[in-house]
Amino acid sequence: MLVAALFPQSYALGLPASSNSLATPRRAGRALLCAAPGGDDILRSLHTTADAAEEQQRRLHRAALAAPASSSSSDGDSPEVHLVGVGPGDVELLTVKALRLMQAADLVLYDRLISPEILSLVSPSAAMLYVGKESGLHTRPQEQIHELLLQFAQSGRTVVRLKGGDPTVFGRGGEEMEYLEAQGVRVRIVPGVTAAAGIAADLGVPLTHRDFADAVHFLTGHAKSGCTTPLGERYEWAKLADPRATLVVYMGLATLPELAPALIAAGLPADTPAMAVQDGTTASQRVVAAGVGDLADAVAAAELKSPTLIFVGSVVSLLNKRDDAAAFGDALTEIKTRAAPVRVLTADGAQALLASVGAREGAADERDSRVEVM
Ligand code: SAH
Repeated sequence: MLVAALFPQSYALGLPASSNSLATPRRAGRALLCAAPGGDDILRSLHTTADAAEEQQRRLHRAALAAPASSSSSDGDSPEVHLVGVGPGDVELLTVKALRLMQAADLVLYDRLISPEILSLVSPSAAMLYVGKESGLHTRPQEQIHELLLQFAQSGRTVVRLKGGDPTVFGRGGEEMEYLEAQGVRVRIVPGVTAAAGIAADLGVPLTHRDFADAVHFLTGHAKSGCTTPLGERYEWAKLADPRATLVVYMGLATLPELAPALIAAGLPADTPAMAVQDGTTASQRVVAAGVGDLADAVAAAELKSPTLIFVGSVVSLLNKRDDAAAFGDALTEIKTRAAPVRVLTADGAQALLASVGAREGAADERDSRVEVM
């Protein structure tokens, strides 16, 4: 599977617009930032969050007049399952929506890659069911997971299926959705921060950069069971061996020794920067960086374990610009710790967070999907 994303070459400058209503800070005595040389205009255009929300609301309404309204409302009685992504591990990468559903759930089905800190935020009254797949351990077959989801949804319970990262990126979210929808169950997808985005951000490596990469490819190093085609024959390597693209390989630890030679044979220079990251965004994160030609040996020497994500591309050279990283040498760099400490949100903290984002009336009703700025 291949997902290619091309990004436009222009970037908007994220400064507040200096329209009349925004030009002057309204609240006297507001703590201003230190003035940068020539930054007076910027400081004058600062305004309160309430002003920003109001202005944004007006913009959205203008856009809503131009676009037809979303047709996501339902009759309110049909069974539903929420497929919820929880990000790569760092509890602070949860979305507010994921957290709210975790706290509202009656039944939660969860996978292997979900960290204990995240699971501890699920409502204590919810029934939890582990449905991960691990070699050597007896777990439920996928068909049984489908049936459980169906039965619970039909009983009118709030069913939340938690998945690591984003539920639709190599997470079988699509398969569960197809099955449930064929049985008349409405499926709501809550996106999560996929491992590629979360880990790259944590390490200060941009996935695209106008000087380095115009595209990102996400691919899996692991085929559907039953597929016997060797990795070397599964992809069009000539397309993937693009020095102007970033390649991110999920589930690629076992097939890395085949992947790197396939890329090099297709023309990618062997010294193209690459890195493998185990347990990304968590306290046990480990990073091994090397030229793509040396990465498999470096990973074996460091004995990296699953889950590990592999990045190949010149954006990885930006890793050495980070204070916490040793110089990117010809051979191997290993960084054992995260730049930022892992923060754990307690269940009480989660409640407080939900309260602070304003559990507006009707927010629990997923059927109202129109954008509202508070
Ligand atoms: N849906 C998930 C991916 C599931 S496939 C997502 O969007 O991120 C599982 C693979 O994802 C793992 O084998 C590994 O390659 C990668 N992965 C997920 N979380 C990771 C983490 N915290 N650190 C390193 N790799 C991770």
